[in-house]
Amino acid sequence: MTSSEIRRDFHVHTNFSDGYSSPEELIKFGIEKNIEQICFTDHYSFFKPAITDENFNLYLDTIQNLKKKYSKKIQIFIGIEVDTSSIEDFDHLGHYPWDLILFEYVFGLPNWYEIFSKVKRFTSKFPSKNVGFAHTRFSRLTHAKFEEVMNVIQQYGLIIELNTGYQNYLDPWFNYMDDQNKFSVGSDAHSLEQLGNINGGISFLKRRNISIDRIIEL
Ligand SMILES: [Zn+2]
Repeated sequence: MTSSEIRRDFHVHTNFSDGYSSPEELIKFGIEKNIEQICFTDHYSFFKPAITDENFNLYLDTIQNLKKKYSKKIQIFIGIEVDTSSIEDFDHLGHYPWDLILFEYVFGLPNWYEIFSKVKRFTSKFPSKNVGFAHTRFSRLTHAKFEEVMNVIQQYGLIIELNTGYQNYLDPWFNYMDDQNKFSVGSDAHSLEQLGNINGGISFLKRRNISIDRIIEL
């Protein structure tokens, strides 16, 4: 099977953070909808309902068990969405077995450069991890910085997430992409009905003539 044929959703919230459904409800619904791969990406944040250092292990164990239970029907991955506006230090995350780590709000914040440096440091420390930006929004950066940011993204192999819930696909920074950029696609589902809706990302790739095979495999 090539990547373009896989029905997947790599940005999904459960009731471990601010989603309305349990991981198992989402998995069952995903199976009904013939979704083949789901990556859960619950929030890690001090500003909203989120997983905490205290229940990382419960979150990981719950999803690992479901992964085994439903292994014949669907592929399950475990990710985390880190709110860089409230989490100061995230290096310890590298010691957990996440399949995907998405950083949010990096570029919308006044101190983005500092946060961006931390993401670079994290990625150098844990080079084997899939690390990227949730609903990547560089809108607040001045034009001159796009090139610099894109160089780092390419150098560190950072993932650009195309998120159906936050469509900003006319941002000029997309013109700085090259054929090395890696993408992830997600619905940002907080409820069952949203699960599997990755149309935003897929149509963006198609409009730009970018192969869907450039979506990462977890
Ligand atoms: Zn999210």
